[in-house]
Amino acid sequence: MSDRNRSGLQQLLAQLPAVDELLHEAARRGLTDLYPRSLIGDFIRARLAEIKEEIIGRQTGGEEIFPAGSFWAAVERDLAAELSPRLREVINATGVVIHTNLGRSPLPDAAVARVAAVAGGYSNLEYDLDSGRRSIRYANVEELLCRLSGAEAAMVVNNNAGAVLLALSALAAGREVVVSRGELVEIGGAFRIPEIVVQGGAILKEVGATNRTHLADYETVIGEETALLLKVHTSNYRISGFSGCPETRELVALARRHGIPVIEDLGSGNLLDLRAYGLPGEPTVGEVISNGVDLATFSGDKLLGGPQAGIIVGRRELVEKLKKHPLNRALRIDKMTLAALEATLKCFLDPRQAVAEVPTLRMLTMGTDELRKRARRLRRLIRRQTGELTGLEMRIAPEVSRAGGGALPMVALPTVALFLRFAGKSPVRLEKALRQRSVPVIVRIVDDWLVFDPRTLLENDFNEIAVACRELFET
Ligand SMILES: *Cc1c(COP(=O)(O)O)cnc(C)c1O
Repeated sequence: MSDRNRSGLQQLLAQLPAVDELLHEAARRGLTDLYPRSLIGDFIRARLAEIKEEIIGRQTGGEEIFPAGSFWAAVERDLAAELSPRLREVINATGVVIHTNLGRSPLPDAAVARVAAVAGGYSNLEYDLDSGRRSIRYANVEELLCRLSGAEAAMVVNNNAGAVLLALSALAAGREVVVSRGELVEIGGAFRIPEIVVQGGAILKEVGATNRTHLADYETVIGEETALLLKVHTSNYRISGFSGCPETRELVALARRHGIPVIEDLGSGNLLDLRAYGLPGEPTVGEVISNGVDLATFSGDKLLGGPQAGIIVGRRELVEKLKKHPLNRALRIDKMTLAALEATLKCFLDPRQAVAEVPTLRMLTMGTDELRKRARRLRRLIRRQTGELTGLEMRIAPEVSRAGGGALPMVALPTVALFLRFAGKSPVRLEKALRQRSVPVIVRIVDDWLVFDPRTLLENDFNEIAVACRELFET
């Protein structure tokens, strides 16, 4: 660039307004009433830098130096985007009920109400209203958990991974933990049984083979150094064919003979017998406890349908050890979780209420008649929004939903879904557009059709999807 051009450029850039000037203008435009000054300043500088870049890159002059209209529109867009929530509600039309990426279980209304009631004020979280003294925070749910599981004692931590880690740290540090080779599970997100055993300071003692482990395999390794037997629910896969492991009762009897406890990581941990609703047999927490397992751990937000939590139930003496361990303090749950958990657990006192009011259970137990009605309702609402659009094609057909979340892994739940496509529009583009709306709709694509599974839709989702379809096809 010649010196002459360079000075010409300097002159052009010098005509741009100063940041201070723009901040005054922002105040005149009322932006300072809506947004923090520091943010306004940051976005003004960023957009101004863009304009400078653009001027420097320009081949010819002559255009407007400072496009005020588009500049302020961009700054306002930036500010609104920055302050809009990043963690947002989405519509789950995938049919995966316990969808870990989408926040697992939607809470029951009663739980949401309790969170709202407790979150904004003080509570008796660790305060005994009778004695006026300090109490322990999960005292409020311990009794409920014991009633629902038949266990002697219970406690709650941040999540099930934390529950397993705490149990191993408190009961097995420096000693051996016996696990079947068929149960050395990896749950998504780097939770692996072999690693969690090491993290708990214990020594992993693998027994048996991948497909089969016999009682004798356990028996031969139990010795002086054995702290406990750990059973792990193979939540997210099944070994079929020539496979097997000892019955829980046999394992418990063996452990008793050697004076060591059996701990079971149940993963989902259902409190209800779902077999009564046509779902495959997973033993309930109550059955596991009555089989003599000393401690059982499970998640609050899988089949329980409540908030993220790690629930531990079992023998008092062991639970007391866990409560006293320093890690318990690091893993403790907060008041909002406790409020939601208490309300969710109360639903389970009456199984019919649980199935009616806990969304996760309501979705899992929904029958195909109801699903078909819901698919038809969705189609009707979409028609109402879009009119008789040419190119829009919808059909209702059987599909498969999933329990998800490492809950009932192999279970295909028959559903009735709405299939939708639009002539000339790629399903991949439509899927993306739905996902990128202000209220995102998450769908699956099957054979070039968008699939809306009504199983996982909540009440207000139907109309929102219909509106989304109108917006999508109008453009
Ligand atoms: C899901 C699962 C976990 C982890 O539970 P979080 O509550 O997600 O921490 C641990 N073990 C098993 C068997 C599981 O299925």
